[in-house]
Amino acid sequence: MTTFLSGMEVHTAPAGTAATVVDGPAMRIPASLAPSAGAPGAPDNQHDPDNPTNPARWRGPRFCDIHSTMRAVVIDEYGGPEKVSVQDLPDPHPGPGEVVVRVAAAALNRLDIWALSGSLGFPIEFPHILGADAAGEIDGVGEGVTGLRRGAKVMVNPGLSCGACELCRAGEQSECPNFKLLGEHVPGTFAEKIKVPFQNVFPFPSHLSWAEAASLGITFTTAYRMLYAQGRFRPGEWALITGIGGGLALSLLQLARPVAGKIFVTSSSPDKLTRAGDLGADEGIDYTAEDVGKAVRRLTGKRGVDAVFDSAGGPSLDANLRCLRPGGRVVIAGVTGGPKVEIDLRRIFWSQLSVIGATMGSHRDVSDMLRAVAGGKLRPKVDRTFPFERASEAFLHLESQDRFGKVVLEFATGG
Ligand SMILES: [Zn+2]
Repeated sequence: MTTFLSGMEVHTAPAGTAATVVDGPAMRIPASLAPSAGAPGAPDNQHDPDNPTNPARWRGPRFCDIHSTMRAVVIDEYGGPEKVSVQDLPDPHPGPGEVVVRVAAAALNRLDIWALSGSLGFPIEFPHILGADAAGEIDGVGEGVTGLRRGAKVMVNPGLSCGACELCRAGEQSECPNFKLLGEHVPGTFAEKIKVPFQNVFPFPSHLSWAEAASLGITFTTAYRMLYAQGRFRPGEWALITGIGGGLALSLLQLARPVAGKIFVTSSSPDKLTRAGDLGADEGIDYTAEDVGKAVRRLTGKRGVDAVFDSAGGPSLDANLRCLRPGGRVVIAGVTGGPKVEIDLRRIFWSQLSVIGATMGSHRDVSDMLRAVAGGKLRPKVDRTFPFERASEAFLHLESQDRFGKVVLEFATGG
């Protein structure tokens, strides 16, 4: 959409941005954070004034000393929010095909708690930088990157894929067998600077604040894929969105609202149901007061809804299946309620129901989501922001029961 692309602002970072120099030998530099080989070396493009990687175009420091550092939100061991600290780590340098982003804001997600607590199911290398979501300004581009200039404002798609397998080549990056997430398998986004493949940064609609743009990566991308790529949600259909109040459920509500015939939401909090009504939900169901399946039958004249969008999993799957009309589908993108459940398969085949999974999204899903956000002037709900130096407080707030929307860390952009 041209309004979105024309709304992209391009800035140039100020000259002479200071780099902190520390005693190198005292620092631990994990291999995963070390500068990429060959990235900032002598480029072969310095005679081309139109090449964005030409150092002559750059007003700020192009080549950072290996001892220059940035601050990052780091853990040295698994635990709770008390294990979160701010440390100096080496500046990232862009390798071929990579960009460095000076982070302005970074949103927290539940997966950051899993990384913090050691619940991801695989070991991570310490010190580990937490965080998957981010928005900021391009600070450096590596060899072979075109079309991205320093100062361009971008949001980050946290999904990393190999780019070479049949699924990546078909444009289904989140189905890549080697799919990874920033902040899980590799250093994350809670840092003053991060490096990511250039395919993972996207200009974002100009009506968004940094905190709002930083809230798009995980939840809006996943919600878009749940609704439209995997769920094939069609105009006029009726949807049930479970657990309203979290970032993903609110993203589902906002992205579905322009299309849906009716939207039903569930929560244990009457206040959250009221606030969801303000965002366009048609009916709210308190799942602590009434069986969700029975409530949906009552509210739909026994018809049921066309689709349920859920990230709880566990025992709620049975109730979600009972909410569906014949031929309906449940789309699942999480198991906060537990990974295993017993269901009556007769309900699946007799009513011809579908249970569909969704994880993150493809690059195309991100682009499509951003156009939907631009066209609808959608704004991700930000519950509260914290300076990144107070990240441990932000983690505590992420767990608070009355949270409605995203928790976001703010960084000084330097611009
Ligand atoms: Zn792949």
